[in-house]
Parts: sequence; C-alpha cells; structure tokens
Amino acid sequence: MSGTSRSCEAEGCLRVTREGKPYCLDHVLLNGYVSRMMGEMFELNRSRNSGKDPTGILANEVLVVLEDRGGAASVERISKTMNAPDTVIRKVLSGLSKKGKVTLAVTNRGKTIAKRRCG
Ligand SMILES: [Zn+2]
Repeated sequence: MSGTSRSCEAEGCLRVTREGKPYCLDHVLLNGYVSRMMGEMFELNRSRNSGKDPTGILANEVLVVLEDRGGAASVERISKTMNAPDTVIRKVLSGLSKKGKVTLAVTNRGKTIAKRRCG
C-alpha cells in the first residue's frame, strides 16, 4: 500500500477515491471541473439547437464519462453516472457507434461495454 487514500466527499459516500481525488468515480460529476464542462455543453446545445438534437447533449456527456473512466465503461455504469435511463444511454451509444466515436462490445454476462475510439 502506498500513497494517501482519501474517501469521497459526496454526502453519504464512503468510497475510497483513486489518486487522491476528492470524489469517487460515481461522484466525480460533482467535481467542479467536470460539472462546469457539462454545464457549458448543455448551454451550448440549448442555445444552438433548442430541442433539435436531444441526444447530441447526451452524446457529449457519454464521451466525457468514457474519458473519465479511461476510455471504457458499461452501459449500466454510464447510466448510473449520468443519472439517465439505460435505454437512453443505449440509444446514444448506438448513435455514437454509427459515427465511429465508440465501439460496443457485449460481455459473456450480457453487459454492453462502450469503448471510446480515437479520431
Ligand atoms: Zn462517491
């Protein structure tokens, strides 16, 4: 064991965080940097195409979540992190997959894993 371990600062969360971060992965969205970034994306999308492309906003968020998790995450994990229903996340992921932004794989337990693709 090395380094300092600290626990998540989110209320009621006792998880130990990685690399001395203030929040666990589930609560990293509470972290100023990420939430500010997402806020900007929301605003951008809202002002640019009000309601035209509802999945566009989510697609950006999914990519942020994947990025935050080192490039890959299960649909379950993404939906929990974003507080969005699985069905919505699946729809967004299939859109991203068609655009070549992510690749989707199904584990032998039937979980869908999304991996971010570069370029
Ligand atoms: Zn937490």
